[in-house]
This record gives sequence, structure tokens and C-alpha cells, in this order.
Amino acid sequence: MNNGLLVVISSPSGGGKTTIIRKIVERDPQRCVYSISATTRAPRSGEQNGKDYYFLDDEAFQAKIEQGEFLEWERVHGYYYGTDLSSIQVWLQQGKVVLLDLDVKGALQVANILKDQTVTIFIAPPSLDTLIKRLKNRKTDSNEEIEKRLERIPMEMEKSKKFDAVIVNENLDKTVDQVLKIIENHIH
Ligand code: 5GP
Repeated sequence: MNNGLLVVISSPSGGGKTTIIRKIVERDPQRCVYSISATTRAPRSGEQNGKDYYFLDDEAFQAKIEQGEFLEWERVHGYYYGTDLSSIQVWLQQGKVVLLDLDVKGALQVANILKDQTVTIFIAPPSLDTLIKRLKNRKTDSNEEIEKRLERIPMEMEKSKKFDAVIVNENLDKTVDQVLKIIENHIH
């Protein structure tokens, strides 16, 4: 693997990382690519297989683990999530900037495996209150799902200390600019 760069973005659920990643890919679609993960969780309304995630059942996911098809995988909020290894290899060889939306543990794992080609960025909410409001406004998760997401926050904040950069997401455009600057600094 050479040339390319893995930009791993993590944040507590509702932190806005999906929008941030989408905006970055839109700004430079020639060079940037989004790594679509596999998951065993069910699609939320509006989510599409092969665009948001590859939605798999437990058995298919386990088979992929056994066949060594994941660069990393984690169990998050009771479901499995994993990053496809072979597409990452191809993109790195092509010199792409690959954006990954991973939980904090997966992010640090990738940084461990591919140290010289990875930059980890943690997107922190301006406050816990803002985050709770965003999660509730999203209306995509049940109260139980929201609780599960909130329970993880202390662990996520702790692990964020190990990231290369932490950006407080006060303003979407500013955050996107900051991420782009970090990418530029790592390419040149
Ligand atoms: P959601 O179910 O809200 O889409 O995602 C739940 C969490 O799983 C988020 O923190 C997201 O970043 C993380 N996630 C998504 N794909 C992957 C993956 O391939 N690997 C890991 N480790 N986490 C992932």
C-alpha cells in the first residue's frame, strides 16, 4: 500500500460526521472517496444498500470476518460494523484520499495497522446538550437507541485524546475547511 491517505473521522453519534464527509467528497470527488462499511444493523429510513452501508445479516458478516475481508471490525451499539480491506488497498495504491466514518475503537485500530498512511480526526460536539438535541431531532432512532448512543460518550471522549486532531463542530463549513486543511497538510 502506498501514496494514498486514510482520513478516519469519528464522533459521538449525532456529531455531524456523515454530513462533513459528504461535503468533503463533494468538494474534491476526483481525489476523495468514501469507504462504505458493512453492518448488521437494519437500514434506517432513506438509507440505501451500497450507498450508506452494505447491509448484511450476522451470518454473512461472520463469514467475512473468517475470510479476513475486513481491515477492522467492531461491535457498536449491539451491531457489527466493518471496513472492507481490498477496496482500501486498491484506493491507497491509486493515491486516493479515503474518508472513513468509524467508531473511536475502529479508528485507533486503523491508525495502528496503517500508521504512516492514516490521520485520525475526532469531531467533538460544542456541548453535550447540543449533541442530545441533535440526536433527538434526527428522529431516526428510538429512545432506547438514543440511550445506547449516549452511554458511549464518556468512552468516546476519553479515546479522542489519542486522535491526531480534535475539531469542535460549531459551524459546519468551518469544520469542513479545518478537515480539508489537515488533509492538505498530510498530502504535501
Ligand atoms: P450508525 O449505526 O449510527 O450508522 O453508526 C454507529 C457507529 O458505527 C458510528 O460511530 C460509526 O462511525 C460506526 N461505524 C460505521 N462503520 C464502521 C466500521 O466499518 N467500523 C467501525 N469500527 N465503526 C463503524
